[in-house]
Amino acid sequence: MAGRSLFISADLGKIEMAQEIVFIAFGSNAGDRQELCDRAVALMNLLPRSCVTGVSSYYESEPIDPQGILGATWFYNGVVRLETSLSAQRLLDILQETERALGRDEDNRRGPRTMDFDIVFFGQHVIEQPGLTIPHPRLHQRRFVLEPLVELDPDWIHPVFHRSVKELLASLADTSQVNKLDVIPGSKYGPRPACSGPSA
Ligand code: ADP
Ligand code: MG
Repeated sequence: MAGRSLFISADLGKIEMAQEIVFIAFGSNAGDRQELCDRAVALMNLLPRSCVTGVSSYYESEPIDPQGILGATWFYNGVVRLETSLSAQRLLDILQETERALGRDEDNRRGPRTMDFDIVFFGQHVIEQPGLTIPHPRLHQRRFVLEPLVELDPDWIHPVFHRSVKELLASLADTSQVNKLDVIPGSKYGPRPACSGPSA
């Protein structure tokens, strides 16, 4: 039950999971990157028990690749803000399934990727379990995550460092190129649907 809280809905008398504000970073450096990001945003809108409440601009960023395995293609990156009553683990499971649906090469996960999702924050929870670390352990070192985060919610506090994402960006050592793009994120698939209900 890491990172979750339960409450009893007084009027309905049933147990529900608390809503959490979650930030998910996405990135693509293989295939049609803009199309893939548009699809990723559209699919976030279909997540069960969830509601997308913000989408950053898209940013084009140079690969940070000391091992030389990511390829030369620059990434399209962005961040989605979500309210969800899914657990962090369930959300990760669905995001990994979605990565596969968007063509992620499972045999070479570390190489060029059509889509990569990272759960950056899950409310103010600190989660350390096999295969899942939240806050994401490298977010504070990455300009391509902090720039879109600051666009969405500059005053959001990192629950381990107790500093806002705006402050983390201001003190960042990462000097890699991250350029905001002049395209409307997620526009291709039309207006987002109503938030999905608790049945899924
Ligand atoms: P990258 O570090 O480039 O995102 P992957 O997408 O292949 O690499 O992720 C590697 C592993 O990181 C995944 O198998 C997943 O279990 C794990 N992981 C740990 N914490 C997180 C998180 N907060 N969000 C997403 N994946 C995470
Ligand atoms: Mg990932």
